[in-house]
Amino acid sequence: MTDRRALLAALAAAAAATLLPRRVHASGTGVRPPGALPPGQFEEACIGCFRCAEVCPPKAIRFPSALSLDAVHPFIAARQTACVLCMKCTLVCPTDALAPVAAQPAAIASSVRMGVPLLKRDACLPWSGRGLCRLCYYVCPYAGTAVELVGPRLAPLFHPEACVGCGLCEEACPDEANAIRIRSPAEVAEARG
Ligand code: SF4
Ligand code: SF4
Repeated sequence: MTDRRALLAALAAAAAATLLPRRVHASGTGVRPPGALPPGQFEEACIGCFRCAEVCPPKAIRFPSALSLDAVHPFIAARQTACVLCMKCTLVCPTDALAPVAAQPAAIASSVRMGVPLLKRDACLPWSGRGLCRLCYYVCPYAGTAVELVGPRLAPLFHPEACVGCGLCEEACPDEANAIRIRSPAEVAEARG
């Protein structure tokens, strides 16, 4: 079954490659599931078997449409569905494109870096003075280290070095703000030039 899925995924990607101009960076810029190898290495190792997506309880792991050149590589769109850090995907990956991670808070904090949060302060309710909101702080599994509340309005201050990139804060941020976006390691590297 796995071989058949991989073959179908490869055929879809190959067909798309003949039809569409290349528009996806070779290393990809999406937020990858936890345990992912560094950008470039991950895309080399991942065979697009879909096992990670199958075991993901909240169905946070997605694959681009069959007409995308990046069709065989999983990503997480936290605004739609964030990762709940169960680590099940890391245990079923047959190629270790997702390296195994123990489902323990300390192990996750030390080894998982799916991305880092970018906060638009002019959109954030407390930072912009438009209202009180602490949702990102309340949902963060590492509240107090990855994000703290500061100032008289108790506005969120993120600490990327302690953030695992689960995206629960991005998912929870109210629609009227939509102030948080998780940037992948590839995006961070590109921004640094
Ligand atoms: S750790 Fe669990 S919730 Fe997060 S992406 Fe992997 S399977 Fe899904
Ligand atoms: S700051 Fe956001 S992305 Fe980072 S660990 Fe907390 S909820 Fe997850």
